Amino acid sequence: MTLADHIRAESARLAALCTACGACVRACPMTPYAAGVTAAGPEAVAFGMRDVLREGPGTPEALAWIAACTRSGRCTEACPERLDAAFMLRLAQWRAKGALGEPPRFPVREDTQFSPKVKAFARLTLAEQEQREWL
Ligand code: SF4
Repeated sequence: MTLADHIRAESARLAALCTACGACVRACPMTPYAAGVTAAGPEAVAFGMRDVLREGPGTPEALAWIAACTRSGRCTEACPERLDAAFMLRLAQWRAKGALGEPPRFPVREDTQFSPKVKAFARLTLAEQEQREWL
């Protein structure tokens, strides 16, 4: 399984379990810094985030929330379904940044050393077989 396959599979698995209740959005400390999120309401923003995981376009508010994520982890603590909401946000952020080959849905800061940095970190954390398959 490639990393792209893993992103797709985990996105689908978690999106199928998510009820779009909005508890993760309510708990998030970044919502005041994400345009339109407060006005749209937590359920609508969660619905848009789930849509991104389901291969959909999302909504402008959901994309703003996804882009603002600083990985506080408050969302995971708040999820009544005991989902790893922080990981869902990470998956949604990768997808929205174009990790699966689509055009980015929000501005992405260019870092020419990003990939080498990720690979260096991954070598510290992945098993040898995972490194062979994914790096
Ligand atoms: S709190 Fe959990 S179930 Fe509710 S919208 Fe967020 S991820 Fe989905």
